[in-house]
Amino acid sequence: MCDTDSLLIIGCPFCERSGKLVYSERKFIGWDGAGIKHKKFSIYVTCPRCHSRGPLVTSDTVAGCDPNSSNPQEREVSREILAPYARKAISGWNRRVSKSSSRPFSKKVCTS
Ligand SMILES: [Zn+2]
Repeated sequence: MCDTDSLLIIGCPFCERSGKLVYSERKFIGWDGAGIKHKKFSIYVTCPRCHSRGPLVTSDTVAGCDPNSSNPQEREVSREILAPYARKAISGWNRRVSKSSSRPFSKKVCTS
């Protein structure tokens, strides 16, 4: 019903700055026969101002993935592959925020 809800990164619990999704290379697994790199990534949401961090989500091994590539097309494809993990990291961050905050959050952006 409300799929985009889980992709909305809400504000930092400490300074209310909006969180930023970070993809960091966790582990280099190796090359396959076709010369493609296999890696694992850590994905989390962090606050650019006070550096608080949401839960770390580690991906399964993915092939030929570079979510921080300078090539926009490669970046987009890679982030699509990692989207399920990104969603998990975002919902973890959002859950933590709403729990530790004293003020009510307007979480439901698409209910009408
Ligand atoms: Zn913050």
